[in-house]
Amino acid sequence: MQQRIAILGSTGSIGQSTLEVVDHLNSRCRVVGLAAGSRVGELARQAHQYNPACVAIADSSRFTELSEALGGQCTVLNGERGLVQLVEQSDCDCVVAAIVGAAGLPATLRAVELGKTVALANKETLVVAGSIIMPLARRTEANLIPIDSEHSAIYQAMHAGRKCEVRKVYLTASGGPFRTTAVEEMENATLQDALNHPTWSMGPKITLDSATMMNKALEIVEAKWLFDLQPEQIEVVIHPESIIHSLVEFCDGSVVAQLGTPDMRTPIQYAITYPERLPGCCKPLDLVHIGRMNFHAPDFEKFSALRLGYEAARRGGTAGAVLSAANETAVELFRAGGIRFGEIVEINKQVLEQHEFVPEPTIAQLFAADQWARNEVKQCLTC
Ligand code: NDP
Ligand code: MG
Repeated sequence: MQQRIAILGSTGSIGQSTLEVVDHLNSRCRVVGLAAGSRVGELARQAHQYNPACVAIADSSRFTELSEALGGQCTVLNGERGLVQLVEQSDCDCVVAAIVGAAGLPATLRAVELGKTVALANKETLVVAGSIIMPLARRTEANLIPIDSEHSAIYQAMHAGRKCEVRKVYLTASGGPFRTTAVEEMENATLQDALNHPTWSMGPKITLDSATMMNKALEIVEAKWLFDLQPEQIEVVIHPESIIHSLVEFCDGSVVAQLGTPDMRTPIQYAITYPERLPGCCKPLDLVHIGRMNFHAPDFEKFSALRLGYEAARRGGTAGAVLSAANETAVELFRAGGIRFGEIVEINKQVLEQHEFVPEPTIAQLFAADQWARNEVKQCLTC
């Protein structure tokens, strides 16, 4: 049977890779929904090529332009509500959640409520609202399959044993572009330096998060929720080659890893076709060519973002929402030239310290914590 896929964030790095996987899988899948933030031209081009039933654009000011470009070919929706409606109306089996940031949460939440299969790239959804999403997914039997390469690796390795037999997981990290850079030089890095990731080609926000290692901090929280782990069971290990995507250690001492060339099309395809495995479209791994792999302990002094990740994972409640929103805002400010690179993590730390923690928040309280953190970052700049 043909799988009907809706892609939230289809114009981004993960979105475009997903469409390549869809092309590769040929008639096994059909695109029934496409959604983006504001890039009308690319979204319209994709809609012409894939002919979905529904298309949504988050930026409502671009709605008329998109409607005209599509000329009644499909239902055109807009605004945050339009993304939610796309999930409801496109008759999809699988939602690929690939919007960047907390903006991806409402539509992903709706997909989980409706019991869809969710191929999840948008890690911020779990960082902000893991406490709500995971129990909801269990109730609605929504299948949540991670796309994030580390979490895809852990998901796959977990199949080698039972949950109660897992001792710990190792999240691998490339270390980003500043792994070997002196701290002072890193703190004053330019946008161009910070966007120069050594192993992965990704959208700008996650690339900058990799440079501060806030990406790994968010992934610690993501892993805690996704796999129901204690923060002490999650260890970060620097692996500059990005060949081992993560590992699971079982109680008998066996460690099971997933390896592959660093290409997001592999975890995307795995998430879409799960539980089946089909021939992939990426270059096969050549271990002899790689020759050797390296591993180091992370430097918590230099990359203090990692501490914030553990703190948010330990505290739960509103801490993840605050950390994620503060970070998004600080990253936007850095991109706009408003703060130095070194200030991103410093601001996140301050905002996390100042927030009024709610241990068991409702979704409304999580949205409020997110909004508070965004305002607080802007206040930090004026004080
Ligand atoms: P990109 O910046 O490349 O793409 C982001 C997508 O989200 C675009 O389609 C963009 O639309 C859309 N978007 C942006 N803002 C909004 C909004 N307010 N409402 C609706 N849509 C919006 O990001 P990536 O593809 O790199 O990352 C997407 C997610 O996947 C992130 O959560 C990231 O952490 C995660 N991820 C990414 C990996 C990667 O390799 N890229 C690896 C692992 C996880 P438009 O183009 O119109 O602006
Ligand atoms: Mg990752």
